[in-house]
Amino acid sequence: MKSNITLIFEKCIDEELNNYSPKMDVDVDDIKEIVPDFLLRKELPIPNVPEIEIVRHFINLSHKNYGVDTGIYPLGSCTMKYNPKISEIVERLPNFSQVHPLQDENLGSIELLYKTSKLLGEITGMEGFSLQPAAGAHGELAGLLIMKKYFEYKGIKKDKIIVPDSAHGTNPASAKMAGFSIIELKSNEKGEVPLEHLKYVMQEGDVAGIMLTNPNTFGIFDRHIKEITQIVHDNGGLCYYDGANLNPILGICRPGDMGFDIVHLNLHKTFATPHGGGGPGSGPIGVTNELSPFLPEPCIISIKNGLVCKESNDKSIGRIKAFWGNFGVIVRAYAYILALGADGLKRVGQMAVLNANYLRVLLQKKYYLPFKRLCQHEFVISDKNMANNITTEDIAKRILDFGVYAPTIYFPLVIQGALMVEPTETEPKRSLDNFIDIMEKIYEEAQSNPEVLRNSPHNTPIKRLDAVLAARKPVLHD
Ligand SMILES: *Cc1c(COP(=O)(O)O)cnc(C)c1O
Repeated sequence: MKSNITLIFEKCIDEELNNYSPKMDVDVDDIKEIVPDFLLRKELPIPNVPEIEIVRHFINLSHKNYGVDTGIYPLGSCTMKYNPKISEIVERLPNFSQVHPLQDENLGSIELLYKTSKLLGEITGMEGFSLQPAAGAHGELAGLLIMKKYFEYKGIKKDKIIVPDSAHGTNPASAKMAGFSIIELKSNEKGEVPLEHLKYVMQEGDVAGIMLTNPNTFGIFDRHIKEITQIVHDNGGLCYYDGANLNPILGICRPGDMGFDIVHLNLHKTFATPHGGGGPGSGPIGVTNELSPFLPEPCIISIKNGLVCKESNDKSIGRIKAFWGNFGVIVRAYAYILALGADGLKRVGQMAVLNANYLRVLLQKKYYLPFKRLCQHEFVISDKNMANNITTEDIAKRILDFGVYAPTIYFPLVIQGALMVEPTETEPKRSLDNFIDIMEKIYEEAQSNPEVLRNSPHNTPIKRLDAVLAARKPVLHD
């Protein structure tokens, strides 16, 4: 007779094992019938390794990795912020993680998509939304295809688009892919769009509009944004807002109110999905009422007795992604927006700007700052002031020795030796102060001991990589 204790242990162990390797839900005999014998392996060469070695192997690997959960990740333009774990938990609820898009009964998924579209519409001031695009650049492409189709529909030939030199690099690439030729607009000395030049170019007639990254890659909010959209509209163009970096304006102002016709967001930057690591992303696009019929299909619309999926509109640019987009990312965004609420989202905006300006003001004491003004969520410094020809790469590599991640380097291209710093709203003051200490120490080292910078990093598993060789001849596996 087994004691109670033994029974409890057995039950717990059973449950625990079930968590690690769920029981098969097919019968072994069935498999034998379905799968031909020659395809079935008789033996599996699983290495015979003690548990402790496996544990150590994976734990050591995880220690070689760096992430937002390890420390500050001030990678400008990428918004490497801390994302609350509650969004992960919600995303894994079986009703969301175990559904198939072809299932009849969708257990609330369609409703979640519809409500997320409405919330994003409210946040951006746009009428229609599509959640299909799988990334920021994918949203840009979809938005520009809408712009193209809109003019085709109106029978107006417009095949050029204005992209300021302060735009994110994906903007001109997406415009080119959508079949536009690009007119690059050089920013003025304040880092903003030169209005007179914009007027002049827009008058050419065949210009479809402008694609504006705002805040731009200098971290600057263009103070003449309403004049920009006015000039473009007065000349029959449309305005595209690259809202991948929405953090600083969240809950404060909206692209729709600034006069934009199309906007894309990066849910995998602003709305609770980690960016980077090549994981799935989501780049929803929002448009005005007039452009809504051109959105990708299928669309979800609300009718009297519920929600339906509609796919029958000849103005639509068509499908741009299988099914409904990267659903898990959208679930996280929905949970995040509801958890924070309107006040919480506004605080995200305020904190993103406060943190960036705190760093900017203290770093500009030593480092060269091309645009001396209030920034948004990020700002750019450069290696211009560094002693002994210490370069941006030296600075970035040395930062790694102090156990933190480096800012984005050599971007934007128009600022020589750029270091683009984005602390994000989730970084505590203590961590910002630590980053400033590191940067000040590096500035001193450039004067007193430049060799230590040139030979850095000293403490990482891998030293400086040959970036050219790595790009030309990548070794993708052992
Ligand atoms: C990140 C980013 C993009 C591109 O987003 P992806 O998801 O990487 O394609 C576009 N514009 C801006 C301003 C960005 O920061």
